Amino acid sequence: MKRVPVWAMVALLSVAAPMVLAQPAGVTQQAASLRDAALTANDSYRFVEDLTTRFGARPAGSESERNASSWAVNELMRQGFENVRLQTFPLQIWERGEEKLEIIGPFAQSMAVTALGGSGATPPEGVEGEAALFETWQGFVDYMGDLKGKIVVILQPTPRTQTGVGYSVGAGSFRRHGPDMARERGAAGYVIRSLGTEDHRFAHTGATRWLGDEGIAALAISPPDAEQFGRILKLQREGKAGPVRLRLVSRPVFRGEGQSQNVIAEIKGSKYPDEVILIGGHIDSWDLGTGAVDDGAGMAVTYAAAKLIIDSGLRPERTIRLIFWGAEEVSQPDDKGLTGANAYAEGHELSKHVAAAESDFGADVIYALRLPVGDDPAFVKALSEVLMPLGVHIDKDPSTGGGPDTGPLNVKGVPVFNLRQNGYDYFDVHHTADDTMERIEAKKLDQNVAAWVSTVWLMANSRVRFQPTNK
Ligand SMILES: [Zn+2]
Repeated sequence: MKRVPVWAMVALLSVAAPMVLAQPAGVTQQAASLRDAALTANDSYRFVEDLTTRFGARPAGSESERNASSWAVNELMRQGFENVRLQTFPLQIWERGEEKLEIIGPFAQSMAVTALGGSGATPPEGVEGEAALFETWQGFVDYMGDLKGKIVVILQPTPRTQTGVGYSVGAGSFRRHGPDMARERGAAGYVIRSLGTEDHRFAHTGATRWLGDEGIAALAISPPDAEQFGRILKLQREGKAGPVRLRLVSRPVFRGEGQSQNVIAEIKGSKYPDEVILIGGHIDSWDLGTGAVDDGAGMAVTYAAAKLIIDSGLRPERTIRLIFWGAEEVSQPDDKGLTGANAYAEGHELSKHVAAAESDFGADVIYALRLPVGDDPAFVKALSEVLMPLGVHIDKDPSTGGGPDTGPLNVKGVPVFNLRQNGYDYFDVHHTADDTMERIEAKKLDQNVAAWVSTVWLMANSRVRFQPTNK
């Protein structure tokens, strides 16, 4: 059902009673009306519900990701977007197989595990070895002893923060580089405490560097299993337990070259159609959950913001381009990744991209906006006024990133902005089987849509120019 936003009713009234309401609503007023319309009703929750129900998990390069992309194309055409298209690109495919980690002794038991994306395989019967337990990543890096034939286990927890900085540290060190470093030192297997901030028995997956057929098997254990290892380590130090022996099985398959795709759609600008404001989320997800929070929510929020503009009957002066990037989550050979984002950045004329941003930090509320350095204080003032009632302030620090898939654009000089979400709970279910619709609250999505539509509308109807973002 189409809702008629408040300002449109005002416009209708002004036709009926021109003497009373002679002034057309200004751009700032339009942004405020779009914001309020978003808070009343928008299509975000329906979209992410439909996506996750129809396609479930959408691993990069899978049939499910492809089908979801075709569905999105039809959906966007049906909703009135223009120039709806697919951009396909080649992708090396990694697929999870059987995975298991057992303590053989002392204290025999099995652990809740998941393989890291791009990690190597063990023989079918697995590998067996003594555990080399490290409380911290640095402890492993500094360790001078022999690791030959051992299974390295890193127990470092991920601190809970609003900005997600704790996650970034772990993802960039022990998840990304740990497996290769362990292999170079002769280890038989590699295990990390999941990059998760809760204490439930879910293992969190995520990409490590692409290790290929010759690579070491690398798993994540759930936070409670890491705590369990911590208790065993304590007993060892007290002389109450001997060395721990582990058996690790992981049987992922490197399937060779396949394909993934970006979905692209537009609301063509009325006055400056070649000037582009690019927003979106990524369509692929990890295989364990249904990718509701990561990143169905981000797709849904940016889609619903653009859809509100279509339904308002207004047309922006600059083009608003919506993108659902493919293959955000996975690593590739030669230390590559963000394959969809790179394909977009290489396949498009970027000199007229005014700004770009991705929503890819969960489904909680937005608390701040970071903009690139611009040349129009009046634009910032108007935007600040419209965002303030949503509890969103404009951060005086210039943006340094606009979401992972805007990285390759940023490198090529496209300014990026960041509607910053509260990430305090984001890493509770991130990349786990528990990333499902149950983790999404419609009211919080509404606040996101309201912030996105206000920001994008004002950007698309001003002459503001931004400087390239310095990372
Ligand atoms: Zn994501």
